[in-house]
Amino acid sequence: MSIRAHEFNKSQIKELQARKLKEVVSRVYQNSPFYRRRLNEAGIDLSSFRPDDIKKIPFTTKTDLRDNYPLGLISVDMSKIVRLHASSGTTGNPTVVAYTKKDIDAWAELSMRCLEICGATSEDVVQVSYGYGLFTGGLGLHYGAERLGAKVIPASTGNTKRQLKLMKDLGATVLACTPSYALFLAESAKEEGIDPRRDLRLRIGVLGAEPWSESTRKILEEEFLQSAHDIYGMSELNGPGVAIECRKKNGLHIWEDHYFVEIIDPNTGEVLEPGEKGEMVVTTLEKDGMPLLRYRTRDITILDDEICECGIAHAKIKKIIGRTDDMLKIRGISVFPSQIEEVIAGFEGLTPFYQLVVDRDGPLDRLLVKIEVSEDFKSDRLVEIVDLQKRLEEELRDVLSISVAVELTEPRTLPRSEGKAQRIIDLRKV
Ligand SMILES: [Zn+2]
Repeated sequence: MSIRAHEFNKSQIKELQARKLKEVVSRVYQNSPFYRRRLNEAGIDLSSFRPDDIKKIPFTTKTDLRDNYPLGLISVDMSKIVRLHASSGTTGNPTVVAYTKKDIDAWAELSMRCLEICGATSEDVVQVSYGYGLFTGGLGLHYGAERLGAKVIPASTGNTKRQLKLMKDLGATVLACTPSYALFLAESAKEEGIDPRRDLRLRIGVLGAEPWSESTRKILEEEFLQSAHDIYGMSELNGPGVAIECRKKNGLHIWEDHYFVEIIDPNTGEVLEPGEKGEMVVTTLEKDGMPLLRYRTRDITILDDEICECGIAHAKIKKIIGRTDDMLKIRGISVFPSQIEEVIAGFEGLTPFYQLVVDRDGPLDRLLVKIEVSEDFKSDRLVEIVDLQKRLEEELRDVLSISVAVELTEPRTLPRSEGKAQRIIDLRKV
């Protein structure tokens, strides 16, 4: 039996990456007018290309995809394209991603590896509660679960009561959805009188498409699932299945036979060392329809190239700290919602539901953090509320280095989400 790619050792991975980097750069030079122009402008000499020369290649950005809308970055003849996905653009053109049959096949393989790493097998019943459609979440996990030979419930998002009924009656053992929807499902199960330990068979959560914290994991693993794993992906890199947490849960293994990762300083573009925090930049090594060189993901993380205790040699990225788009600049200081989430988790009597409201008082930015208290918090004791608010404000000020106002709200008053949570209201932009 031939060795499977996720069982490669580190030196096999490095060798493979060196070869594939050269291949992909030559391939886009030959087939993509966009990249030929870019590589010529940067003075890249393909005949003597070495892996380290990657640093001389200019970054590809989301703006490049928008400017070349819809299909200016494809590297194959259009007749080979079998699928087109598009991500919603809040402004201007959406980002279109084109796939060949080979791409769809590779995507299924990577998504299957992710499920396997979490402990899923062909015996599992996988409820896919990510949206199906132009968004890649639903179909990506669907392929992976089918490739694994598991049974798939393509539930998509919404209709939460029916989701719970199917989960119970069909004995779902794996749930794939956003972490905020998993929290909402857990809360709704309680309301429906469903006891997860007694009535459900959920073992594994495959949760992604937005950053989430250890506190969310703790709540979900105590109340809903046995093991919650963070999965990472984006449509530009196929979709979900780019990286996943193994059973050690101290980072997400990124499939280095498909993706070459660099971490850069988002302001200067300088490449950082493993262990340093910055923006993840990815070169796709296998993508056929629309390969990308040094794509700026806008996700902030840390690369960990140490050997993982689980035995998998593929490098890890730390849980995504935030996306440069979600980064709030408040009085010149960078603030990520995940930092606030971690603070909230350290206090008793609070739920993981919160909202950040930013506005302006004259020239000064103001941040208000609204946090929902839990059902069992005795909200009739005014002294306790004031005390809790004060302690939260102090802790947030220490962590974020800016002053923050906290408002505690009654249970079930903040909006819930069936997809990605909308946690930021920035009134400065209105
Ligand atoms: Zn591991």
